[in-house]
Amino acid sequence: MKVTNQKNCRCITCKKNFHYLGIARHRAMHRDKKEVCEITYTDGVTYIHDFTPEDENTDIPNTKSVRCKMVGQV
Ligand SMILES: [Zn+2]
Repeated sequence: MKVTNQKNCRCITCKKNFHYLGIARHRAMHRDKKEVCEITYTDGVTYIHDFTPEDENTDIPNTKSVRCKMVGQV
């Protein structure tokens, strides 16, 4: 049984399954697009990563913050 080939992570936002090493890159894609993504990780915990800007001052990089919250455990 090849554990490394399993796709145990799921992006609920995209309705796609991802390898646990690939989910980080996928999450970065959402971050680059300043989207909210909901991801269930290998341990069954679902997080909502909110990469949307806090306010209108999106031109100032230092104001950018990443909010992340756990929403539940399966
Ligand atoms: Zn996604």
